[in-house]
Amino acid sequence: MIEFDAAVLPAVGRRLEIRRMRIARLERDDVLVRIMASGLCHTDLEVIDGALAYPMPIVLGHEGAGVVEAVGEGVTEVKAGDHVVCSWNPHCGHCFYCERNQPILCEPFTFHQPRGHLLDGKSRLTCEGATVHHFSVVSSHAQYAVVPQSGAIAVPKEIPFDRACLIGCGVMTGVGAAVRLARVEPGASVAVIGCGAVGLNAVQGARLAGAGTVIAIDRAGGRRDLARTFGADLATGAPDDDVVAFVKQATGGRGADYVFEAAGSADGFRLGAEIVRPGGDLVFLGKVNVDRDVAFRWGALMGEKKITRSSYGGARPRRDFPWLARAYLDGRLNLDALISARVPLERINEGFDAMRHGDCIRTVVLPWDSP
Ligand SMILES: [Zn+2]
Ligand SMILES: [Zn+2]
Repeated sequence: MIEFDAAVLPAVGRRLEIRRMRIARLERDDVLVRIMASGLCHTDLEVIDGALAYPMPIVLGHEGAGVVEAVGEGVTEVKAGDHVVCSWNPHCGHCFYCERNQPILCEPFTFHQPRGHLLDGKSRLTCEGATVHHFSVVSSHAQYAVVPQSGAIAVPKEIPFDRACLIGCGVMTGVGAAVRLARVEPGASVAVIGCGAVGLNAVQGARLAGAGTVIAIDRAGGRRDLARTFGADLATGAPDDDVVAFVKQATGGRGADYVFEAAGSADGFRLGAEIVRPGGDLVFLGKVNVDRDVAFRWGALMGEKKITRSSYGGARPRRDFPWLARAYLDGRLNLDALISARVPLERINEGFDAMRHGDCIRTVVLPWDSP
């Protein structure tokens, strides 16, 4: 039995509350992680605002890093003392989709995850005797988390936790989209729409892959400037800019070889189709409310354009998280500049307020810091 503090969302639209949480015992496949850092991601905010429906009460957070405290008797991949980054896509390894190398669609994962459970269909969390739900099989806005062993990924101990946690969602999604999913070729032209955490990582992923020209597109001048420090050669998107003309001009009149949409807006999706060249690759990373329609100019889709929707950048966490950590330690991946603020658990709501106002890239919660 372990008792600890967690930030609990009691109902849609409410502030998070710091509550005392209990985990009674570990099941066979469980890994208990002492969470040292947890990034605030836009998906958490979607749950708070009700754009994504989850059972309540719930402990949010799916971008966590920490130290393995204990493991269930069936766990072989990690051991106590390992430093781990949590993956929000634990998977069974043997269902229809896992067998087809599409773990993001793993059937136990897609069934149990929206129900706020671990992969065995149960919660481990209680508060004053009542069940509390897990979010995306992680729930890292807390001092401890229980995750399945396929969601606990060992990384080198040299990487600081506040940097490491970012690998678990925003970095994997953006870098992975460029390197793993689209497989950007050396010399290719790349445009990235939206330069928040995921977009900046698509920019540096394109750089890692050896892209020729990288164009960052964002309405905010500060974010365009930041994108240049992450490897963008050109930037556009100010209110008076003709973005389509700008991208065409920078790409021999054809449009970009690869376009990554990370703004999460209907305008962004539409723009992506306009600025990718015929035969090029358009990858949607952002999202809008699931009930919204998105429209395209039909002509913009002509010319054998390839459109992919990705939620986790083609992640294979056990392959990719150590690689991303090593890239940071070798100075090839910028994680430092992604962090706008570090706050103790008690001030987590301030982080979500900043995200709502769009004036941060990532706020990282440090659950063991005192307020
Ligand atoms: Zn996320
Ligand atoms: Zn599976």
